[in-house]
Amino acid sequence: MHFESTFLRNIPNIVHGFGTRSDPVPTPVLKNWVELRPEWNQVAGTEIANVVRRNQACGDVDGFFTKTTNPIGVRAADCVPILLARKDGGMVAALHAGWRGTKAKITEKLAKTLLAQGEDLSQWVAAIGPAIGACCYEVGEDLIEDFVKTFPEIEPDMISPTHRKLDLSAINQFELERLGFGQVDWIPECTYCSMDKSKGAHFHSYRREGSGTRQWSIIARKA
Ligand SMILES: [Zn+2]
Repeated sequence: MHFESTFLRNIPNIVHGFGTRSDPVPTPVLKNWVELRPEWNQVAGTEIANVVRRNQACGDVDGFFTKTTNPIGVRAADCVPILLARKDGGMVAALHAGWRGTKAKITEKLAKTLLAQGEDLSQWVAAIGPAIGACCYEVGEDLIEDFVKTFPEIEPDMISPTHRKLDLSAINQFELERLGFGQVDWIPECTYCSMDKSKGAHFHSYRREGSGTRQWSIIARKA
């Protein structure tokens, strides 16, 4: 099982998927991913790589964009994965936005990077994948206050709908819309508490399982 964005599915010549516990690498992209995937270290920063060749060594990055048919993606377990594509299917991007990347405004970094490439953001679709939800993501009050100060345009109740719970996906959704991305989709599955009665947890969750287990969110232009 994997999840897809209906918005991204409507874009021609794109294949994508958000992985789960049963299929950490989404099946539609599995073969290409194994053969062509870039090499990188995810460091919860804001660096973004332009992927121009297969198996590219990208260094310490938390985002990618490409006009090639090489697949790009991020691994996450609770952090927010974001997959993006231009509406004509000619270019794609992927972001890893945990609390550090979100607070450091990795979405704004991507927007600036795409604008510098001559892109019109209104022609882009962004899809926020499964991540730990405001139902489960309890953090310190200091961190909530930090977010409220960092994002003065966002209602504090949207940043933290209940006491000490942080809504990273809502913050990223607000930011993507504020920055001018044409359409923003959101798959509202919580990686911590989304369960199947017979099969158990749908997702790997850092909060539930600790480090070492992850699922991948991957997008590619079709060859
Ligand atoms: Zn939850």
